[in-house]
Amino acid sequence: MATYRNINRFSNASSRRAMSFTSQQLVLEPELIIEDNYTSQSFNYLEPEMIIEHTAQQSILDSPIVGDLLFPFKTMPLNHPDSLKNSSYASYDYTKNEANAATFAYRRGSNRLHAARDLYYDVGEPIYAITSGKVLNVSAFYWDTWVIDIEHDYEHISGHKIIVRYGEVNKNNILVKKGDKVARGAKIGEVGLLTKDGKYIKQPSPDKRGMLHMEIYTGEVTGTLSPGWVDLDDMLHAKAVTYKTGRSFRRRKDLIDPLPFLKTMLNNSKASRIIT
Ligand SMILES: [Zn+2]
Repeated sequence: MATYRNINRFSNASSRRAMSFTSQQLVLEPELIIEDNYTSQSFNYLEPEMIIEHTAQQSILDSPIVGDLLFPFKTMPLNHPDSLKNSSYASYDYTKNEANAATFAYRRGSNRLHAARDLYYDVGEPIYAITSGKVLNVSAFYWDTWVIDIEHDYEHISGHKIIVRYGEVNKNNILVKKGDKVARGAKIGEVGLLTKDGKYIKQPSPDKRGMLHMEIYTGEVTGTLSPGWVDLDDMLHAKAVTYKTGRSFRRRKDLIDPLPFLKTMLNNSKASRIIT
């Protein structure tokens, strides 16, 4: 069942909430060190192929997100306002705008902006493909986790398939490899644990934190998803209300805020009773 929803642009900066962090909580994602390196490691693809009928949507930017996209999990995120694991998770509500570490365009480090929405789950939670597609890349990512980039059979901009970056997955449980075709709803991996030098991120403390770091690209341009510095003004869709200049997503210019997609996908998975 398709759900129609307008793109929700950013709320004003006054919505940012004051937060206090311990020094440990301030250790978030470090700068990207390794990226887009295809691994020769072999993987087992376990899910059976499914025949999926998909009709490309005629759409333009800011048009509703339609179709049969599924949420990448079968349970609710621990940092969604309707299902907070406990009150500590309210400070990581991913549905807010530029408000905390889990939100899009939030400042990371000195000048990097967060290119994703972070969905918090316990380590090991299965991750599922939002619709059918083809794996473009499987490689190392932040803090001992890996990334899976998939070009999906869905067009938000007519004539261009979206690319979803499923980041911070467990490197030991990845079920797909570059070139694989994946079916809608197929399990592709599991939430990983962010570790560095034997320590893991506590976010919120004292939990061992896992998450899906989810980026979406419209597919309008080609090239690596992480090209280094890209001026904010050159981004086709992604905006940063709080930080105008001197900041960069350090991502390809067709990056787009995943939140409207996530809202639609969550509604679709609830309507299909995949998430109850
Ligand atoms: Zn993230």
